[in-house]
Amino acid sequence: MRVLVLGGTTEASALARMLAGDGRFEATLSLAGRTTRPVAQPIPCRRGGFGGAAGLAAYLEAAGIDCLVDATHPFAAGMTGNAAEAAGRIGVPLLVVRRPAWVAGPGDRWTEVAHMRAAAETLGRTRRRVLLTVGQGELAPFLAAPWHHYVVRAIERPAPGLLPPGSEVITARGPFEEAGERALLAERAIDVLVTKNSGGSATEAKLAAARALGVEVVMVARPELPGGVRAVETAEAAFAWLEDQHAGTLRGS
Ligand code: NAP
Repeated sequence: MRVLVLGGTTEASALARMLAGDGRFEATLSLAGRTTRPVAQPIPCRRGGFGGAAGLAAYLEAAGIDCLVDATHPFAAGMTGNAAEAAGRIGVPLLVVRRPAWVAGPGDRWTEVAHMRAAAETLGRTRRRVLLTVGQGELAPFLAAPWHHYVVRAIERPAPGLLPPGSEVITARGPFEEAGERALLAERAIDVLVTKNSGGSATEAKLAAARALGVEVVMVARPELPGGVRAVETAEAAFAWLEDQHAGTLRGS
């Protein structure tokens, strides 16, 4: 059975490891190509966009894909919308993998906002020391609030034009440990952390560190999934779904 996994996440890489060497599946992993040194993968990889929903539908047909798994990041709403549209258009079964969102607990000082512009506005007019862990594509709203001091953590150094003036850049790729996150918050005297509600354990330690140090968190809510799509929370559940799909094709043949 031919499977296309839309990736760029821990879950997609975990699913790729499960599919590798399993004779029932011929799987390809698709990466957007945003990072120049992506993590090595155990199944064939393709890189770069498809050209919208129409391009993805054409790819699925040309490659004879039987099942599509969208294991992109919870904030990759464009790709997820395209996957739903393309799969619906040509009748390819689609499953979305969405890890659970983080939820505030006792001791957390979160302000939850709907989008990144609201996050920048929430920082207010008084200069604050802000840790931004929002991804290099999401920095634009903070250019409109240049009076804050920003520490920007990203996998790769953002182009200078994307950065608020005077930003300090830290390049690092998770997973991160709580002790290191505490040290970062304390050494840079961070007042407030801005993050997307990505969920997952790889980058969760910053929230525990903020809680421990009483640092405020501005939490940007994730976009809604397209209506009617089937979703699971883990790579294991996605693999089980693929096994069911495979068993279904055997029963149908
Ligand atoms: P996006 O805004 O939803 O996607 C924009 C366009 O990038 C898509 O329309 C598609 O181009 C292309 N694209 C995205 N994911 C792709 C994939 N897996 N394979 C091939 N093309 C893809 O997505 P994004 O937020 O830029 O995320 C890009 C990648 O980084 C995704 O793979 C995502 O899982 C990963 N990532 C994102 C975040 C985040 O915070 N957004 C965090 C960690 C990892 P076409 O329309 O031309 O097909």
